[in-house]
Amino acid sequence: MGYEASLFLEKPNDEFICSICLGVYDDPVSDECGHVFCSACLEGWLKRKNSCPMSSLPCSIAKIRKAPLPLRNLIGALQILCVECKKNYVSLDRYEDGCQDCYVRRLTNRTAAKDSFARGARQTQAQAQAQTSDNIWQSDWVKWAGIVGVATAGLLVLNSSMKHKSRDKK
Ligand SMILES: [Zn+2]
Ligand SMILES: [Zn+2]
Ligand SMILES: [Zn+2]
Repeated sequence: MGYEASLFLEKPNDEFICSICLGVYDDPVSDECGHVFCSACLEGWLKRKNSCPMSSLPCSIAKIRKAPLPLRNLIGALQILCVECKKNYVSLDRYEDGCQDCYVRRLTNRTAAKDSFARGARQTQAQAQAQTSDNIWQSDWVKWAGIVGVATAGLLVLNSSMKHKSRDKK
């Protein structure tokens, strides 16, 4: 499908308009008789009919050729509204990248994403180390559990005796 003519900075030349979709050529190709269409438009057409949409002369998908380079270059240089910010214009052959602002922003975001990914990896490593030390600590804890257990039991006894005392006061 071609690009909507209204998206361009200047009204595109009629020569750049695909007669199937009425948009500016997207990946222009030419048929056997030299007519130019968007590749997807012409392929779609020829899947249903074996003739040129303009001249009705026999034509097949196998005979489709890329449109001449000078035409492709002219179309590629047209200024179209950036699809991302819908604010700046960008040449059609850089449409996928977006305008310079959007391109730089995306690049910065990607770097930031890569940084946070690296941070994430470091964190995981730190967590793994923490877990290992936890395990060591745990095995120590098992050793000390008996002693702690005794201490806890002592505390419980102490606690209950204190409760008894406070009840006695009433
Ligand atoms: Zn088209
Ligand atoms: Zn034709
Ligand atoms: Zn943009």
